[in-house]
Amino acid sequence: MLKPGHALSLWRLPPQPELIDSVSTLLSRNFFQLHPFFIWKPESSIMVRLRNNYVLPCLHGCPKPDVVSAGVGRPRVIVGNRGQYYILAPRLRCKMCKRMWFADSPRWLEKLPKRFTNIVPAFLTYKKAICKSVLNELRRTGKSPSDVANQVNELLHLKYEQAHLAYLGSIVNIWDAEAGVYGQRTLGNYVYIIVL
Ligand SMILES: [Zn+2]
Repeated sequence: MLKPGHALSLWRLPPQPELIDSVSTLLSRNFFQLHPFFIWKPESSIMVRLRNNYVLPCLHGCPKPDVVSAGVGRPRVIVGNRGQYYILAPRLRCKMCKRMWFADSPRWLEKLPKRFTNIVPAFLTYKKAICKSVLNELRRTGKSPSDVANQVNELLHLKYEQAHLAYLGSIVNIWDAEAGVYGQRTLGNYVYIIVL
């Protein structure tokens, strides 16, 4: 049985900045605006159960493809109905024809069995990526695409505001510590120089 800490997942969640020790180091406000990553690595050993005996195809149709990772890929920003995240797809290489492509290439994804593409959280095209959660929202509610777009935009603004508020809260937390509220002096002078 897998322990929760060893659970396999293609998702990587950012740390919650409130939990980082903000007394000794002042956190950058960027820390509060981090988004989850979905790491799409169909060639990786993490996908071995799903792959089973299936051989990943070559984008260029080689009869006996041997597809391997060819380095770090590129992230795409996806907007879902619970906020933003990134899909990070590596570059793949076919050892037979030596050609390379990205693992999120729509033309390559089309060649994969559905059980692979089902776990990708967005529909990817060359120019756009649409989170499946947004498409489900469209289907479920029957709202117009512009209504759903507005709703998603509002959510992004709200999440940005909340994260900024958490950032300001962390500064107050440092000031309180400096003022001895928690019965302990801190590296306050250092902090004041940066904040003021
Ligand atoms: Zn090939």
